[in-house]
Amino acid sequence: MDTTRLVDSFGRAHDNLRISVTDRCNIRCFYCMPESGVQFMERGEILSFEEIERFVRVAVQLGITKLRVTGGEPLVRRDLAVLIRNLSAIPGIQDLALTTNAVLLAEMAKPLYQAGLRRINIHLDTLDRERFLKITRRDDLGRVLAGIEACLQLGYGPVKLNAVAVKGLTEPDIVPLAHFCRDRGIEPRFIEFMPLDAQKIWDRTRVLSADEIIQVLSREVSPLVDIPDRDPRAPATEYRYADGGGRVGFIASVTRPFCLNCNRLRLTSDGKLRYCLFAIEEADVKSLLRSGASDDEIARLIRSNVQAKWIGHEINSTRFVPPPRPMYAIGG
Ligand code: SAM
Ligand code: SF4
Repeated sequence: MDTTRLVDSFGRAHDNLRISVTDRCNIRCFYCMPESGVQFMERGEILSFEEIERFVRVAVQLGITKLRVTGGEPLVRRDLAVLIRNLSAIPGIQDLALTTNAVLLAEMAKPLYQAGLRRINIHLDTLDRERFLKITRRDDLGRVLAGIEACLQLGYGPVKLNAVAVKGLTEPDIVPLAHFCRDRGIEPRFIEFMPLDAQKIWDRTRVLSADEIIQVLSREVSPLVDIPDRDPRAPATEYRYADGGGRVGFIASVTRPFCLNCNRLRLTSDGKLRYCLFAIEEADVKSLLRSGASDDEIARLIRSNVQAKWIGHEINSTRFVPPPRPMYAIGG
């Protein structure tokens, strides 16, 4: 097998793989899923743990060292802790993280910790019960908060909090979330609303930008100072509070695209490889895995997907075409 590193035609080396383990979810965030009538994939369409692990073993030989497990909601996938244990044991994996809405985390935090998970990103946009219900169409704020406390008590770290920022809706949440995180040693990451929703409700006027949030936090919490030596390949732009109260990250995909440093690939739960969240084309890993393909053939497919990678998404161009899959079916 050719084990040279996965470098695309723009010189970007890829070492990071996001694995979606399901398209199902137990809540219905309006910027991701429709409220009802979602057509989920059949069980047989979803990659088994063995198939995911085989793919990762091949990808590791091409230089993948970092994994993030996501979904849909990964905690609704049965026996997730088994997958976490197996992935963390693959030689060459240096970093394993999970992104979750935390509704099931109070029960799952311990088995996942015992399976070797330490890094976790928890998605929470508001501490207000009414707004949580409005955003997620479920009354589960209490369960999410219990999940966060369970993680902190078990010693997970770093724990980060992903908050999607939507103009005209989540402005009142910025400061309370910042204080909640400062009090607990959690790093909040404010994510700009992206055109990945199933109902096509995104438009530019609903993007609450990183710059606007930075101004609010600097004025009402503590001045934010840019961190110049941060990892340029990380999606979040990081700042620190001038008063030493921790860090804040911004995933400003719309107003500050970070495509030039992208090092990420994505495997969907139904076994399609994508070089970008916004990609239109996909490589069919599942068919290879299920047709007795060799590791060499799988490696060649990964390499050709990386070679086909574009320079970046075109959200800010009139040429932009939203991907055919919404966020929950890609894996955020
Ligand atoms: N269910 C898990 C969760 O919510 O964290 C994992 C999957 S979810 C698709 C991954 C992340 O995508 C979430 O943390 C959420 O912040 C983000 N997300 C979903 N839809 C989005 C959108 N339209 N724009 C920006 N971020 C979005
Ligand atoms: Fe579910 Fe995550 Fe999508 Fe919200 S963002 S609907 S929690 S998959």
